[in-house]
Amino acid sequence: MAKKELFALPNVQTPNQPVVFDPDCCTGCNICVEVCPIDVYIPHPEEGQPPIILHPEECWYCGTCAVDCPCPGAIQFNWPLQARGYWKNKESGKIGQI
Ligand code: SF4
Ligand code: SF4
Repeated sequence: MAKKELFALPNVQTPNQPVVFDPDCCTGCNICVEVCPIDVYIPHPEEGQPPIILHPEECWYCGTCAVDCPCPGAIQFNWPLQARGYWKNKESGKIGQI
């Protein structure tokens, strides 16, 4: 069977970056690639590296990838501004994010 070369180019048009991978935590197991219902990620060609975010604008922020990731902290969400919740500590005045 003839070998085919495939190319996948991440969408560089959008400023949206739904998640950030921590390369120190991520083992490149690709479970998040498998469980994402709409294939936002593809595996990195280098073994052990975090997946590539191929379709960032398609993310639903459903959280499935983070829930199933075996390495807590490897996936951090970069929530859209409209979905971010903030709270203020009445005593210190410090503002925190949910
Ligand atoms: S499931 Fe977690 S550890 Fe595995 S590739 Fe995805 S982010 Fe990395
Ligand atoms: S939050 Fe949901 S849609 Fe977005 S990358 Fe993770 S699994 Fe896919």
